[in-house]
Amino acid sequence: MKTSTKLKIYWREFKFLAKGVFSTRHPVLAHIIPMRRCNLSCTYCNEYDDVSKPVPVEEMYKRLDKLAALGTTAVIISGGEPLMHPDLEKIIARIRHHKMLTCLITNGYLLTRERIEALNRSGLEYMQISIDNVQPDEVSKKSLKVLDRKLQWLSEVADFRVNINSVIGGGIKNPEEALLIGKRAVELGFSSSLGIIHDGLGTLKPLKGLEREVFFRMKALGKKGHTRVNRFQDNLVDGKPNQWNCRAGARYLYICEDGLVHYCSQQRGYPGIPLEQYSAADIKREYDTKKACAPYCTIACVHQVATFDNKRNPQHLPAKGMVEKESVQAIRTLYHIAKGGQ
Ligand code: SF4
Ligand code: SF4
Repeated sequence: MKTSTKLKIYWREFKFLAKGVFSTRHPVLAHIIPMRRCNLSCTYCNEYDDVSKPVPVEEMYKRLDKLAALGTTAVIISGGEPLMHPDLEKIIARIRHHKMLTCLITNGYLLTRERIEALNRSGLEYMQISIDNVQPDEVSKKSLKVLDRKLQWLSEVADFRVNINSVIGGGIKNPEEALLIGKRAVELGFSSSLGIIHDGLGTLKPLKGLEREVFFRMKALGKKGHTRVNRFQDNLVDGKPNQWNCRAGARYLYICEDGLVHYCSQQRGYPGIPLEQYSAADIKREYDTKKACAPYCTIACVHQVATFDNKRNPQHLPAKGMVEKESVQAIRTLYHIAKGGQ
């Protein structure tokens, strides 16, 4: 990555942070889905299908223009698999046209040198690839063995930041592989992050034995500046709830392929309002609404967004439309970044 690009991104991040702190009336981060279809079929995933068509680029432009009008500062694109969208680079360029930060979450399978160069030209600033294991198995083909050549191309060609996300918990067969994946990311000059997943019954359990050891060794890797493990995860590892105010629907928006605003990938249906109708009043209401699922939530990007407002404006409106059972289901799938489907 060029030094000039790095400096530009630092400056834009500074402005992003300053705007987020200065005002509570705009979304800090929006997550948008240009395509629900995926070229893989990970068995734990509830965020893809194998039939749907790409959202037409003109429709994506309208949605991005509306996000810009709401004052959104950063946009994450995921899916499904966004690299399957024929106009992905145009979508990224539109985000940059509005001076919003742009991040792409992908399974990486469709990356080639040429595609990475096209992403450079589009103005992409961040990419996250999730890698679940070293060798493909029946659960996931997002494997270091398959993707390593693509990671090398990224290391050589990409003019954007790359983060590699690995996972532990919830019955992943070989937790120590997360460490191998994290080390490979560091070796190639990328950052790495770690996700904690829950078990198949939808409950979060404290990490034990090897999983716990891997978690703390990844944290140590982080001391060298390459791995991010946040304080929310520290509690989840011990099976403890987090006390925080989820600002989904206000500071964080999840826009599905149908153009509806949802709290997040795991709370789709709330508030379920078309983006084109979303207003400052909706943002204000959701900013003040408690989310029943917050204590055991594993969605890292919403945790991060919430830190802007932790010390201000306690939430006083009751949770709407969610019961505890649904809240547990909300955390049934893999913790993503922003993973968003990857
Ligand atoms: S699952 Fe997490 S991010 Fe989604 S609404 Fe609940 S607390 Fe917020
Ligand atoms: S986790 Fe990602 S790569 Fe796997 S099926 Fe879901 S969207 Fe596709």
